[in-house]
Amino acid sequence: MILIVGAGLAGLSTAHHLRGVPYKILEREREVGGLCRSYVKDGFTFDYTGHLLHFRQTAIKALVETLLPTQLKRHARKSYIYSHDTYTEYPFQVNTHGLPPEVVRECLLGFIATLSNPSTNQQTDNRSFKQWILDSLGEGIAKHFMVPFNEKLWQVPLDELTSDWVSWLVPKPDVKDVVNGALGIKDKAFGYNPSFLYPATGGIKVLPEAFLPSIEKPSYDSELVEIETGRRRAIFRSSQGERTEEYERLVSTIPLPDLVRRCVDLPGSMRELASSLRWVSVSNVNLAVGREHISDKHWLYFPEHRYPFYRAGFPMNFSPAMGPPGCSSLYVEISHQPTEREPDALLIERARKGLEQAGVLRRADELVMADVKDLHYAYVLFDRHRGRAVKELLAELERRGISSVGRYGLWEHTSMEDAIAQGQQVAARLRMKVAA
Ligand SMILES: Cc1cc2nc3c(=O)[nH]c(=O)nc-3n(C[C@H](O)[C@H](O)[C@H](O)COP(=O)(O)OP(=O)(O)OC[C@H]3O[C@@H](n4cnc5c(N)ncnc54)[C@H](O)[C@@H]3O)c2cc1C
Repeated sequence: MILIVGAGLAGLSTAHHLRGVPYKILEREREVGGLCRSYVKDGFTFDYTGHLLHFRQTAIKALVETLLPTQLKRHARKSYIYSHDTYTEYPFQVNTHGLPPEVVRECLLGFIATLSNPSTNQQTDNRSFKQWILDSLGEGIAKHFMVPFNEKLWQVPLDELTSDWVSWLVPKPDVKDVVNGALGIKDKAFGYNPSFLYPATGGIKVLPEAFLPSIEKPSYDSELVEIETGRRRAIFRSSQGERTEEYERLVSTIPLPDLVRRCVDLPGSMRELASSLRWVSVSNVNLAVGREHISDKHWLYFPEHRYPFYRAGFPMNFSPAMGPPGCSSLYVEISHQPTEREPDALLIERARKGLEQAGVLRRADELVMADVKDLHYAYVLFDRHRGRAVKELLAELERRGISSVGRYGLWEHTSMEDAIAQGQQVAARLRMKVAA
């Protein structure tokens, strides 16, 4: 018997792809989806912050389109940066036109200076994230966007982070694109997501729910609390009490530090490695006002420290069905240390003030809904401990019959598409083992 722990996209995809191999899937919550969920409050639907689909793998795109054959709608991305009281298009580095001339000048000169820097085109290196930004994009772009934005998001000095994860997230422009962007000349789309797909109704939760007809019914309200890896036994707690499950292989999609803490017979050295893993949490503040079309954009980045949030988005621009007519909904994301969560009322107040300051909300706007969700594990920190710790932990767990997959199982910074792909890959490996 294979036990799958967690019914987020990685766990659901594992179950979907096991095809004929016996398994059970157990989930702590009373619904599937994990981070890829939506909820309805006072007639407004929100994701656990906006979750937009973009694909780099044709097989996963095809699978999602089979699961949701008619529901997905394509949108041309309208994402902007708000700084110096000006909207500029994302990504910042190729769209500085419209900013104050001295800012554009600093960004251009800084970028041009990187062209004669020998570290600029290094493929693999052990530079810090901060050094990578300076070497690749230059001092002006660092000062006016990359450093303040990322410090707000990651909540640590950027020289504590490595640069080995940035290549697919941060587009590296060539000089022509940077100059064109400073002059307002547009001749191509940039970034990993120039367009995206989103369900026409129901929010992103329709994606995990679409796996349900093809898998065994998940056991909800089943929290993994303990594993004896030697005896291959796992204990789950529910509102009905505790129960023990025996397994041959266990696929865990829960956060790696939580998994290690629950394995009672792992050596102390493994626990120490797991306790060195760091992450940031995100307060997801969801708001709604009784005024329509408060923005024509999909989402906005806020690099400046005077705004408490690093990003805000407008769900009803992904799908008008996300709220009643005549209204608008929006979310903001505020990072925080996992141990330092602010009270909801204060977060709502700070979010509202910042949105007014940015001109997104007006003083007269009445909040018709306000709610906060805390994403305890949001962004894994790629610091100097992570690489070795994750490698050793995953190898030790594999030796003990446990495959740890998914965004937090592999302790990485990946997307919904990747979670689905990882489920597919681990299922393929397990099917081969069973067949052998
Ligand atoms: C702020 C933010 C915005 C994002 N936006 C996007 C986006 O726009 N596009 C995109 O593609 N991706 C986005 N992502 C990434 C995306 O959410 C994840 O890659 C994906 O949902 C991860 O799925 P998963 O199954 O690996 O993990 P999870 O969704 O975390 O699933 C793990 C499951 O395990 C369960 N669980 C945890 N502990 C236990 C336990 N002890 N016992 C039993 N069950 C347990 C959880 O309840 C959960 O259901 C975003 C992530 C964040 C943080």
